Amino acid sequence: MDAFKVRFLCARGRRTLMADIVSPEKRSQNMSAIRSKNTKPEVYLRKLLFAQGYRYRIADKSVPGHPDIFLRKYNTAIFVNGCFWHRHPDCKYAYTPKSRVEFWQKKFDDNVQRDAVVKAELLERGIKLLTVWECAIRRMQRDKIEEERALAKIIFFIKSNEKNTEIM
Ligand SMILES: [Zn+2]
Repeated sequence: MDAFKVRFLCARGRRTLMADIVSPEKRSQNMSAIRSKNTKPEVYLRKLLFAQGYRYRIADKSVPGHPDIFLRKYNTAIFVNGCFWHRHPDCKYAYTPKSRVEFWQKKFDDNVQRDAVVKAELLERGIKLLTVWECAIRRMQRDKIEEERALAKIIFFIKSNEKNTEIM
């Protein structure tokens, strides 16, 4: 066995040890952070809509809140909201960390307030608002039937005269 391989195995050994001394709770937080970084729910939704023939702008600066997806033709802004940061009500992903409670609460309150301001601005300008919660995207990614069902709802809203809805 050459020196490089030995070093590699030692490094792997250390990493395994590290993984084991991290609590299961912490590990699942790490895993979900990694997952969301890699699969990006908003990118997933953009691809779905693109495949259906929809064309959009990304983070358009001229639209309040710089939506993840803006369909100019349908005057529709779509936000893919992370359940944790945007405090999806009654959602398991919207847990509150046990430490630095005030710090987190302030952050959450700011986010929720900003979302409310953006919503009011959009509706005032006559722009339709669709909020798609991250947990709904996760379900879509896991299950083909969920994907079709949710996508049908999204497209129905885009084409409808409704002003505001959520997919959750
Ligand atoms: Zn949620």
